Amino acid sequence: PSRAFRPDATVAAMDERFGHVIDGEERASLDGAEFDSVDPYTQSPWARVALGGAPEADLAVTAARRAFDEGPWPRMGFAERGALLHRLADLVEANAAELAMADTRDMGKPVSDALGKDVPRTAQNLRFFADHARLSASEAYPTDTGHHAYARYEPAGVVAAIAPWNFPLMLESWKIAPALAWGNTVVLKPAEDSPASATILARLAVEAGLPPGVLNVLHGYGPDSAGAALTADPRVDRITFTGESSTGRVITAAAARNLTPVSLELGGKGANLVFADADLTTAVDWSIRAIFTNAGQVCLAGSRLYVQRPILDEFLARFVAAADALVVGDPKDAGTQIGPLSSQTHHAKVTSYLEDPSGKVLTGGPGDGWFVRPTVVVDAAPDSPIQCEEIFGPVVTVTPFDTEDEAVAAANGSRYGLNAMVFTENLSRAHRVSARLRAGTVWTNCFFVRDLRAPFGGVGDSGWGREGGTFSREFFTEPKAVVMAIDGG
Ligand code: NAD
Repeated sequence: PSRAFRPDATVAAMDERFGHVIDGEERASLDGAEFDSVDPYTQSPWARVALGGAPEADLAVTAARRAFDEGPWPRMGFAERGALLHRLADLVEANAAELAMADTRDMGKPVSDALGKDVPRTAQNLRFFADHARLSASEAYPTDTGHHAYARYEPAGVVAAIAPWNFPLMLESWKIAPALAWGNTVVLKPAEDSPASATILARLAVEAGLPPGVLNVLHGYGPDSAGAALTADPRVDRITFTGESSTGRVITAAAARNLTPVSLELGGKGANLVFADADLTTAVDWSIRAIFTNAGQVCLAGSRLYVQRPILDEFLARFVAAADALVVGDPKDAGTQIGPLSSQTHHAKVTSYLEDPSGKVLTGGPGDGWFVRPTVVVDAAPDSPIQCEEIFGPVVTVTPFDTEDEAVAAANGSRYGLNAMVFTENLSRAHRVSARLRAGTVWTNCFFVRDLRAPFGGVGDSGWGREGGTFSREFFTEPKAVVMAIDGG
């Protein structure tokens, strides 16, 4: 594995600029304020970004409101709107290299991941929701009483989409695609640590022919800034948020003042149960990906690994060897598997858990710069911070268990409930344990596989609501019942 760290080799000229995109125009803030986006590998700014606040949030919501109330978008047919979203998906694919590198420069994601997962899934999200909306736009309920009832799924209005930095483009498209497909207009506030790809996407939306004001991008910080102004605006009809559980509470309180419906995709502390009857190669391979993909900066990370005692030693030997073999390095190199953490602040947070890890560190620990090497901890106390809190870095605790009941109880003993993994070759056990786990998603013998029709979301502190297929439809529309008398009433 390469640990090469060359902070001076790739310092960019600061010639990149990313503005807000409001009403189809890329623009600066009213007072010209900007902030730097720092490349976590070089630790140097690589781009200047417009810094918005309440005045720019006001402009963006005004544009989205006008596009919704007066523009063609909500009144278009599903096929016509869908065709524009398909065109945007084509442009995303045609500009894959630029979009992928924007996320890599902003937050340190390996460019191979950005090109292999984030960008293709963005195009897929746009296409899927365009088609899904067209094919599920109405439901009929014939009655026995001489009436005919049907549901119309009408767009909710202006959607504020507030996104995190870990899968910038992909998670933004996961909100934008269903919101737009159902005829809403959007103000997207990307995370301040990953602003660039959102501006590029909005430029492409203009090129694809989306009408002005349909997709607006507002840059800025969260508290007391652009994010807070969006959540307080009574002209916003839906708030869709992905980020930390603590931020989710603040946003929900702000939304409550206007009774604005909120959906929350929050943090996680995924349990990964490896039973003695698992296929060990499959279990090691997926468990490695589950915790070390994106340097562990994944809400779905399998950060609590529970291994049945008879296979503990062999599993650990293979798991640690595989962790040590991961290629850590410059995220811009095609062969890199683990990049730096996204920012200095985040690096400080993750390494703080390693100062007193409670258990024994088998491998890993802080690396150069803002890197943390793949880290495996055993014998952590059940109530220790490393075992209970979301670290959001490449740090996994491994705990042995004896019985299925013990494993299920340990997995469910978290205030989070986003997802869990089960590795077993026993079909009955796979179904039985999946049913008993308190989580929004359970993956058996795999990880990160997503069918866009299936519900996605979290239990407990991991969120409110579900996204995907008809679940997104419920959130982004106002379903209306129309009841008609067939024979005169
Ligand atoms: P964060 O909560 O710090 O920020 C997320 C977004 O919210 C940013 O755009 C930020 O500017 C904005 N924000 C912050 N405070 C705000 C406020 N008061 N009002 C309005 N907006 C505000 O989260 P993050 O650090 O960017 O992302 C990491 C977190 O996201 C982790 O907890 C991770 O588990 C979670 N996450 C969850 C999912 C999921 O699907 N459940 C997916 C990815 C990430």
